[in-house]
Amino acid sequence: MARVEFDNVTKVFEDTSGPIVAVEELDLDIPDGEFVVLVGPSGCGKSTTLRMLAGLETITDGEIRLDGERINDRSPKERDIAMVFQSYALYPHKTVRQNMAYGLKLSSDLDDEEIDRRVEEAARMMGIEDLLDKKPGSLSGGQQQRVATGRAIVREPAVFLFDEPLSNLDAKLRKHMRTELSRIHSELGITTIYVTHDQEEAMTMADRIAILDNGELQQVGSPKEVYYRPANVFVADFIGSPSMNFFDVDLQHDGAGSPALVGNGFTYEVSDELTELLDASETEFVLGVRPENVRIAEDAPTGKSISATVDVVEVVGSDNFVYLDVSGRECRVRTSSEIEPEEGETVTLTFDESDLHLFDRNSERAAVHGHSRADHEAQKTIAKEAEA
Ligand code: ATP
Repeated sequence: MARVEFDNVTKVFEDTSGPIVAVEELDLDIPDGEFVVLVGPSGCGKSTTLRMLAGLETITDGEIRLDGERINDRSPKERDIAMVFQSYALYPHKTVRQNMAYGLKLSSDLDDEEIDRRVEEAARMMGIEDLLDKKPGSLSGGQQQRVATGRAIVREPAVFLFDEPLSNLDAKLRKHMRTELSRIHSELGITTIYVTHDQEEAMTMADRIAILDNGELQQVGSPKEVYYRPANVFVADFIGSPSMNFFDVDLQHDGAGSPALVGNGFTYEVSDELTELLDASETEFVLGVRPENVRIAEDAPTGKSISATVDVVEVVGSDNFVYLDVSGRECRVRTSSEIEPEEGETVTLTFDESDLHLFDRNSERAAVHGHSRADHEAQKTIAKEAEA
């Protein structure tokens, strides 16, 4: 088991069209035993990060440490890291047992009896005991995935790396394997770094999620942190499905009534307490609100109602996804299945102040999260009680 540190790590590929910065100044400290998911869109540098750690790619700048020791120049074999690929990479002419044992035979001086014991133990964990004498060609995708994971387990490595391991499986099996891999992780407690472009996979499996865009780390935090406190517009947009709604708004406060966020075709009043948490000189924001936090409501409170026209209603079973037009901008709403407005109908939308997010329109960085007001007030109360 091991702690993994990326210290200011950069990877530049020299391409015929010029240099490509795949990973830029990455700082990430992963404590022993943690399950970290690297997530981000195609080409953001996830696989390169993993491959640098495994020793399959050189590092242009910075340092990678395993338990405090620099490993930049160690060969993959000297790193005690096992990697599971999307392609499974099994030997077609070897049996499952031979596939699982092969790496150990090459890289260790364990005797056959110990290797057999480890293979059978890993096969039991992965539920593939009955497949040990079969060849990969006769196995389903899900079974091959189990063998590939089992082969990594027998090595008892310090770190597990998974590069999109479930991408080739159908949706149902993928969900099942997520649970299986999470179970294996809690059983073994081995530091795990898992790459996916699927934010739902990241949210359900990770202790912490690291979100990358364009080679740069955007935020690292628990699934709750990145969902409730996205650091910027990119993270807010990437995490959550359907993704967050965004509207350009100006904060207006003429001193008389409540301060208000004024967007194209709507005005949404906010509390003084919320605006006090903002930088006084800032007035241009992007308002973000998640589809699950917007309500279609007849009785929306005055000052907090937004008029919208229904474009499309998607029935997905337990929920309905409603796509609406707010003065030319799309707004997505996730409602319970009983609420099914007519297409073309004009409805009123509302949401609670505690569910909004404001981002600085220039930097796109988070300026305030609506629930921070409640957190702030709770902190003030705690501080007062502590004084008293
Ligand atoms: P995906 O989800 O599509 O696998 P990714 O997030 O894993 O993407 P990487 O494969 O790490 O992204 O690639 C990051 C960037 O580096 C991309 O722009 C890619 O084109 C580039 N890149 C990766 N490998 C090489 C290479 N061997 N030579 C040149 N450029 C490369």
